[in-house]
Amino acid sequence: MKATIVLLPGDGIGPEIVAEAQRVLERVGELFGHEFTFDSHLVGGASIDACGVPVTERTMTACRSADAILLGAVGGPQWDDPAATVRPEQGLFALRERLGLYANIRPVRAFDELGERASPLRPERAAGVDIVMVRELTGGLYFGTPRFREVVDGERRAVDTMVYTELEIRRVVRRAFEIARSRRRRLTSVDKANVLECSRLWRQVVREVADGYPDVKVEHQLVDSCAMRLVTSPASFDVIVTENLFGDILSDEAAVVTGSLGMLPSASLGDGRCGLYEPIHGSAPDIAGRGIANPLGTILSAALLLEESLGLRKEAAAVERAVLRALASGARTADLGGGRDALTTRAMGEAVLGRLERPSRLAGAPPEAARG
Ligand code: NAD
Repeated sequence: MKATIVLLPGDGIGPEIVAEAQRVLERVGELFGHEFTFDSHLVGGASIDACGVPVTERTMTACRSADAILLGAVGGPQWDDPAATVRPEQGLFALRERLGLYANIRPVRAFDELGERASPLRPERAAGVDIVMVRELTGGLYFGTPRFREVVDGERRAVDTMVYTELEIRRVVRRAFEIARSRRRRLTSVDKANVLECSRLWRQVVREVADGYPDVKVEHQLVDSCAMRLVTSPASFDVIVTENLFGDILSDEAAVVTGSLGMLPSASLGDGRCGLYEPIHGSAPDIAGRGIANPLGTILSAALLLEESLGLRKEAAAVERAVLRALASGARTADLGGGRDALTTRAMGEAVLGRLERPSRLAGAPPEAARG
């Protein structure tokens, strides 16, 4: 197949990790006979420095006509002035909103290959974690208006607004049901219905959508008790769906349970096929430019891209298998506890590339390679 993939390396370690994911995609193209065209654009702080805005109309147009978008990360201390009106993350928000990418999907699982010390939780608690977090991405507090600051009777006051329409809730909840249906058929809907009106509407809409999915077992959980359950029994979850703010916080909590911030991918999807794929971590300014960042979260994001936007399941599976085999062989970057033998970003990319196999060899792959 032919596909155009827009690359948005962004800031910090972004360019380093996106370069490795691009090499993996290029190799997939060669091995499986696809023609991928890459179109690289600035976003975030890099775009502010070059163009004065965190995302230009030219970048937006390229993204609109792409088959898929792969992003590194945005942000860094040089653009962090709280008084600044132009900020790197505005580029990301604009992309999500204007491309209609309302559902953020994060598969969170424990990687056996990393060993049981990877998680900060006791091994028996962290074992078997396999969750898909579905977060509403373009509504709620992050986008609601009015939002402003004012001074009333000499005191500063700030206002943000949480607002949801039933359409915004229904479309993301439906997607979560579909994902649950393709997995263990259990869905946890997270809200704060004892306090928030938006959450009461959320719960009502979930119940209505559930009528169409009698094969999926639904439970409703308050966000505070969900936060506790994520550390006490994370393996008890299958699919979690929640609104924007709760999802922002819970998905990071869920990620850290597996002890692998640098490993986890995400997809932001809308109604069309084109999605935006990125690792869940930030731009890691503390290690940027040193060539030591872990590229696996971005490489696994590329695998999600192949599957979700391009419909290339076998290719996605081949990339995931190559990552697991690299880990099983002991390949580690510094964040994965590589110590003195830690691989560079490039060397980890090589470790994955070296384990990507041609379609004809996949059928006869050894059992070690067939896991995951
Ligand atoms: P971060 O995820 O960038 O870094 C947290 C810690 O994890 C750091 O010690 C970092 O070195 C390490 N780390 C992260 N990714 C790694 C990788 N691939 N390999 C090895 N180590 C890795 O979070 P932060 O420090 O809170 O934020 C830094 C900047 O990133 C901020 O400007 C923030 O706004 C931005 N950010 C961007 C996104 C995004 O683009 N989607 C998400 C979160 C944070």
